[in-house]
Amino acid sequence: MPSLLLKNAALIATFDDAGREIPAAGIYIEDHRIRKVGPMATLPAEADQVIDLTDHLVLPGLVNTHHHLYQTLTRVVAQDADLFTWLKTLYPIWARLTDEGVYISTLTGLAELMLSGCTTSSDHLYLYPNDCTLDSQIRAAREIGIRFHAARGSMSLGASQGGLPPDRVTENEAAILKDSQRLIETYHDPEDYAMLRLVLAPCSPFSVTADLMRESAALARQYRRVHLHTHLAETLDEERFCLEKFGMRPVDYVAALGWTGCDCWHAHCVHMNTREIEQFARSGTGITHCPSSNMRLASGIAPVPKMRRTGVKVGLGVDGSASNDGSHLLAEARQALLIQRIAPQVYADNMPLGGREGFAGDPAALSAREALWLATRGGAAVLGREDIGALEPGKAADLIAIDLNRLQYAGAGHDPVAAAVFCHAFQVDFSMIHGKVVVQDGQLLTLDLQEPLRRHRALSQAMLTG
Ligand SMILES: [Zn+2]
Repeated sequence: MPSLLLKNAALIATFDDAGREIPAAGIYIEDHRIRKVGPMATLPAEADQVIDLTDHLVLPGLVNTHHHLYQTLTRVVAQDADLFTWLKTLYPIWARLTDEGVYISTLTGLAELMLSGCTTSSDHLYLYPNDCTLDSQIRAAREIGIRFHAARGSMSLGASQGGLPPDRVTENEAAILKDSQRLIETYHDPEDYAMLRLVLAPCSPFSVTADLMRESAALARQYRRVHLHTHLAETLDEERFCLEKFGMRPVDYVAALGWTGCDCWHAHCVHMNTREIEQFARSGTGITHCPSSNMRLASGIAPVPKMRRTGVKVGLGVDGSASNDGSHLLAEARQALLIQRIAPQVYADNMPLGGREGFAGDPAALSAREALWLATRGGAAVLGREDIGALEPGKAADLIAIDLNRLQYAGAGHDPVAAAVFCHAFQVDFSMIHGKVVVQDGQLLTLDLQEPLRRHRALSQAMLTG
């Protein structure tokens, strides 16, 4: 089996259980798997391939647990809108999405993710107008070489039935389930080190029926490691919708449908109370924290420190490229750190605002290493993966490296791990996925972006101008 030695790294932050950070170290890899991590003297001196990482910090590859890559085609729309207004503005534009748009937007969005340190991503594609298929997204993900959890999303509750989306972007439920089964049976790899898994993901309480949620869960649970994903407790509008339509808060609604457990994760979870957080912790239900999107749409601030203290699995998500409006995962870790430090729940009990116009936060609410933990171990746990997220023997060879001589690191070299979050977001210099180098000297090796970006621009223009 082919072997590979990464040598002379200035520092390797393993994010293993002991949180080891090893100076002057390397990683020995065999057959896509990490065999040894440690000081250079403890590693084999030779390998089939040797890569010198002098002056580099090495981190586990980052894991993105919530996104809508097709939305890279429709950025900067409805700039000052809340979620429901933003969605209602965009649905008619998204109705013009084509299969080529799915393919091209997946390539470009994943390129942005990979250059920002992501080595595993999920994507939630929930509308299939015109000739759109999830197959084209999967083809793009395979071509660019990322580890991918493709979520077969869906919308079935149109405006005529009391849902939010117009009927023409919804699908028939029988067709959704049939296509979901076809996709699982065609593509899903349940084994360790899988490069592709399928996820079933009805879009949200206000765009699918309870029946589709139940049926999707039943279908997913017929297969090993097919997980369930949806949007939940994102905004107060959604909470009001659920109380009015179902007589329940969003978390109680999905729990009643069987959507809690180790095979479920929910995006956002901004508006959760203590009882609901405890319920998620007990049941092993995961959540994706999407700070940029939550700020952009003024949805609120998810109670991430409390979730972590309570034992909820928390990962990060860059979320829809049209509500972020980017796909930069290191930047998202930085946003998570910054937003939690001004989150009101930190002081709400003991420091009422009174007549004050401003307020203070908690500078220790989330540390840089905790933010990186969310982006690595947290994301891996949320996706149900034991084989990624840390640099230790037995894990997949998914890792990134940052050149300490870069401009953003000037003056921060005394703590390069924290600098990856504190200092302004940048692109990584090196990335390896499944033992294969995909970014070198800051350049993506698996795709020439020039032609896809030209095509992306034309497709975007066609969608936005109709
Ligand atoms: Zn989303």
